[in-house]
Amino acid sequence: MDFILYGKSEKGCDQAQWSQRTKMPCSVLNESVLVLNRHWVAVHITSARRALVLLYSDHARVVAEDYSTHTFESWRELSAAMETVKKIITPGFQIAVPEVIMLTEFSKFPPRHVKFSRRNIYLRDNFTCQYCGTVPPREELTIDHVVPRSRGGKTVWENVVLACVKCNTMKGNRLPEEAGLVLRTKPQKPHWLACTGFNLPSQPSSLWQRFLDNAYWNTPLRP
Ligand SMILES: [Zn+2]
Repeated sequence: MDFILYGKSEKGCDQAQWSQRTKMPCSVLNESVLVLNRHWVAVHITSARRALVLLYSDHARVVAEDYSTHTFESWRELSAAMETVKKIITPGFQIAVPEVIMLTEFSKFPPRHVKFSRRNIYLRDNFTCQYCGTVPPREELTIDHVVPRSRGGKTVWENVVLACVKCNTMKGNRLPEEAGLVLRTKPQKPHWLACTGFNLPSQPSSLWQRFLDNAYWNTPLRP
């Protein structure tokens, strides 16, 4: 099953862009979809492409605004009447990109503990220097101790941030304020959703909001 066909998005892609198959920068197929387990608890984020494959293979249902759940067929029928701007349009039919899906078999719960790891620091900070805001090549990103280890700084979520080589060199063994640098965000332990590797919408829909806990809203979003 391949949904790499045509589509339209609110970002206004033209047809030439849509013909570039999967790597389209603004493809609706890459929209983030919230995934619930069968107990209606948010457990993951996936792409619209993956969500539609799960739906088509009957491993998932779409959760609609009114909490009704839909199979691929019923969602497809419903999509025809929707005035949504996010649709996958094929020569034969069109189907709306779901915002939330529910897995029919999966009953596990999301991880309570976010592992303190290099990968998760990179995901939390969105591969961005937390001092100057640049997004350099990954090999030019370093992990900086805000309070240097030589001055008692610990290696914990609250004291490490990504920094580009230039900022890290400029900072040296000083505090940010001593080096004339300002942190763009206060480092903290991320919500597990921020470590899925998927972009979180900057303004999650109201449907997402109903399934996400307060901890999520207190966590900085990836842009
Ligand atoms: Zn920098």
